Amino acid sequence: MSLKEFFNKTPWNSKKVKKSSNTKVGDLFAISSNSSNKTNIPALDSDLHLWIYWDWVEDTEVIEIVNDIFLKALTKKASDIHIEPREKFVQVRFRVDWNFIKYKNFDIKYRDAIIARIKIMAYLRIDEHRKPQDWKINYKLFWGKTIDMRVSVIPTIFWEKIVIRILKKNEKPPKLSELWILPYNMVKIKKHLKDPYWMILAVWPTGSGKSTTLFALLSQYDAEEKNISTLEDPVEYRIPWVNHTQINPAIDFNFAKWLRSLLRQDPDIIMVWEIRDEETAKLAIEASITWHIVFSTLHTNSAAHTIQRLVNLWIDPLLITSSLRLIISQRLARKLCPYCKEAYKPNEKIKSYIVGKVWRYIKNKDDFKLYRAHEWWCKKCNFSWYSWRIWLYEVLEMTDKMEELVLKNASRIQLEIQAIWDGMVPIKEDWLLKVVLWETSLEEVLAVLWN
Ligand SMILES: [Zn+2]
Repeated sequence: MSLKEFFNKTPWNSKKVKKSSNTKVGDLFAISSNSSNKTNIPALDSDLHLWIYWDWVEDTEVIEIVNDIFLKALTKKASDIHIEPREKFVQVRFRVDWNFIKYKNFDIKYRDAIIARIKIMAYLRIDEHRKPQDWKINYKLFWGKTIDMRVSVIPTIFWEKIVIRILKKNEKPPKLSELWILPYNMVKIKKHLKDPYWMILAVWPTGSGKSTTLFALLSQYDAEEKNISTLEDPVEYRIPWVNHTQINPAIDFNFAKWLRSLLRQDPDIIMVWEIRDEETAKLAIEASITWHIVFSTLHTNSAAHTIQRLVNLWIDPLLITSSLRLIISQRLARKLCPYCKEAYKPNEKIKSYIVGKVWRYIKNKDDFKLYRAHEWWCKKCNFSWYSWRIWLYEVLEMTDKMEELVLKNASRIQLEIQAIWDGMVPIKEDWLLKVVLWETSLEEVLAVLWN
């Protein structure tokens, strides 16, 4: 029996069928069939289960709740929305500048309805509770703008957790000059941007604003004069004249396969979102040796660690030294709110530590002061005492000495010492400088680097 027949033949349900006649239950399955998890029409008792949801999701109260969550997240400039069912309530949190802010706890009675509503918006199966699902929402705001959202659903012990990534396709990527790259790193980056071919890797532990640096680098090139192509998942920014390609994992065509096809498109500059496997790593390196400029990212903890990671992916050290020119390791920290930050004199112990590390950059050693978050009434930063963010960097350049060490399969420590010898400022010194320049607080950076 089809779902439609079931509801038509069930007299006690006739009133409800009438109520939602604009959106037929059959339509729901037409929608679901687009999703990444295609399955057969559900069994009868799950139809009943579904009906209870459907009734809920049609309810204007739930539609308002979900719209409210989305709009609030957008006004707070959140990058992600986390909807987390707990034992007795549903917690909604936003990630803003890489920190969580609590939005609201909803009564447990709204749990199924909120989740079902979002699943429907994202064309996901609402009767699937055992498997993870993911797809996207094109959320239309009433003034006509659309926001792209990536929805991921994963079952937890307290029902399903939803994480929604808000993509900023209409936002311009920041300029290289806006990323707080201090002169000693900027000189190296600008030098290598002029090279005719090479590979540059931006590395970070998960979630350190990777796309931002890559796009700032890409936008240094004249996209009308060069063929710039990207392979991304998801596409976060859109630069005019750049050929952005969204990788779709559902169609069994991975980064490596895409890259192979892309190389036949006569590219000058290629941006590969992420090197996850040996095949992609090899292809990316081969592309850079054959006169292409390649940008990519890897998940590692430090610049020196990246070389070892590539060796672990079975890349010949000879290939690494002939293609890789620069490794940019980065972390993200919150910038102090300029309206409520407070100056203070650090105690002697902290002062001597900082001065000892970065003495050559401090002009006035006697009247040495720092800034910290002053927790008072400040509307400008929504009482978070931080606004926007800054990046902390460590830039490793492939010098002749470094190449020798890579070819000798040197340890991470040896590579690190050589890099510092060659002029690399370690990320911990870069952050101390950003504290000394009064952009962020000691507490914030300690939390980022020692977490
Ligand atoms: Zn403030």
